[in-house]
Amino acid sequence: MTTFKQHAREEARRILAEYGDVSIPVPVEKIIKKRGIRVQFSPLDQELSGMALIKDGVGIVGVNALHHPNRQRFTMAHELGHHILHQQEINGTAHVDKGFAILLRDTEASQGTNRMEIEANTFASELLMPTMLLAPLIDTTGFDLDDVEQLQMLAKRFKVSLSALQFRLLALS
Ligand SMILES: [Zn+2]
Repeated sequence: MTTFKQHAREEARRILAEYGDVSIPVPVEKIIKKRGIRVQFSPLDQELSGMALIKDGVGIVGVNALHHPNRQRFTMAHELGHHILHQQEINGTAHVDKGFAILLRDTEASQGTNRMEIEANTFASELLMPTMLLAPLIDTTGFDLDDVEQLQMLAKRFKVSLSALQFRLLALS
């Protein structure tokens, strides 16, 4: 695993530890609010997921109110990732996310925006599906990673989309 991804993952674990006892589904909105960051839901264009900005010294996470709750959870975790990892980059300018591709390739991560997006996605993945809570569930005998039905049930428990779970499992193996 590349170092910058490792850093994003470690930061997500630190945020979870600072919050305290976490069980699934991970209470992402509460975690954000407890850090003094505001969460604002507003109806946005379909292709906009959300945004991260700092206004008058207050951190804000914007979420598209029209999206599915599971997608909103990923957006919130992603935007929190920007606040934690990219404070300098988002200070003074709103960082707007247009339906970020969750499966960005490492090769596109060499620099700039893509790298920030991959870091935020990695952070979001670990925050919503922490290794310590996910690994025990899939290590269970009888759990079949190729069984879509089982994966869907697991995604439901974590309140994430199936594709977000599949993306996460790739990083676990
Ligand atoms: Zn982003």
